[in-house]
Amino acid sequence: MKTGIFGGTFNPVHIGHVKAAIAFIREMQLDRLFVLPNFIPPLKDRESAPASDRLEMLKIAFLDVKNAIIDDFELKSGGTSYTYKTIAHYKALYPDDRFYLLIGDDNLLIFRKWRNFEYILKNCVLCVAMRANMDIAEEKHILERDYGAQIHILQYSPTVISSTELRSKLLPEYLPDGVFEYIRQKGLYQ
Ligand code: ATP
Repeated sequence: MKTGIFGGTFNPVHIGHVKAAIAFIREMQLDRLFVLPNFIPPLKDRESAPASDRLEMLKIAFLDVKNAIIDDFELKSGGTSYTYKTIAHYKALYPDDRFYLLIGDDNLLIFRKWRNFEYILKNCVLCVAMRANMDIAEEKHILERDYGAQIHILQYSPTVISSTELRSKLLPEYLPDGVFEYIRQKGLYQ
């Protein structure tokens, strides 16, 4: 089976995430995609909405996305959420699967800062959403040449939006159906 992994803070999840995930499933022909909110992100230092709300918003956003599974593994594990640990977890569960990891171009540029990134590259095909159209050519080349990375650039047209922008101004058109109402009801991001 082909298993995809998509982690993030999702604070909140937006349509940029959902569109990237759909392209990821389609282009890599994934049998299943695990979407995981992190507990404490390694490289961010700001407060986020409660984990239970971020999880709930993901469930709403991915309700109609076939093969997507929202997993609270990183939330239940607690502490800092390292992607290599999540991959090791799925590899232990599904030793015969082939693994694919989805990240945005912003993360490809700092990928060598990720804890144990060599392990990730050994065990996953890296799939990149060009969310900000950053110049990734040199970094991609280094990862392929020096670390044997397999990198696939997703061929869809990304939506340029970030959770940061949405936290400062809630724009309903960038939020998946039901997520805006959830945020309003819960009084998040005020
Ligand atoms: P923030 O603005 O709070 O940093 P974010 O919008 O970057 O958040 P994350 O939860 O950090 O969202 O993103 C999870 C993953 O999704 C990351 O790999 C990120 O690069 C990717 N991503 C975020 N926004 C988009 C987008 N608009 N299109 C494609 N991928 C995205």
